[in-house]
Amino acid sequence: MNPEQILDHFRFTDALLEGHFILSSGLHSGNYLQCALALQYPTDARQFGKAIAEALPAIVDPSSIDTVASPAIGGLVIGYAVAEALNVRFIWTERQTGEMTVRRGFNVRPGERILVVEDVITTGGSTRECIAALEKHGARTVAAASIVDRSNGTADVGVPRISLVTMNVPTYDPAQCPMCARGDEAVKPGSRTSK
Ligand SMILES: [Zn+2]
Repeated sequence: MNPEQILDHFRFTDALLEGHFILSSGLHSGNYLQCALALQYPTDARQFGKAIAEALPAIVDPSSIDTVASPAIGGLVIGYAVAEALNVRFIWTERQTGEMTVRRGFNVRPGERILVVEDVITTGGSTRECIAALEKHGARTVAAASIVDRSNGTADVGVPRISLVTMNVPTYDPAQCPMCARGDEAVKPGSRTSK
């Protein structure tokens, strides 16, 4: 899957919307990304998982990975799909009163070599928190991966990292939004009446 094929699939599944949107932060953007929509069908999720697994040799020897781990909720589907492609186990971290933790009885061994997978990296914050939670158990995160990199390559998670597609998505304060300046009405994603 090359980046254009991935973006086409995102548009086809409405995972990538183009228009004039009000993000949850209150900022405006010409794009809205909801990666979950691109992963609704297991065959699609499996394809993305396989594509990430196939891209890994650029940063890590895939056979050296013991486990795939993802920060819940966003990373769950794609993390599972990557683990399936690598034929290793899959676990996740989740927030408990705000702090990312390993729960559900998942046992993490000291020295265990882990690949952390997310759907979308924006600042890298969730991946870094996931890595920190695993390190508390002595695990060693050897690499990280995501389908989309929204940081335009700038997110630093402290380990080698790959993404299938890199996007630069400008956001605007409403007062400085060029689409608002043109008189276009901004909408909340999901409120759009389509087709
Ligand atoms: Zn606007």
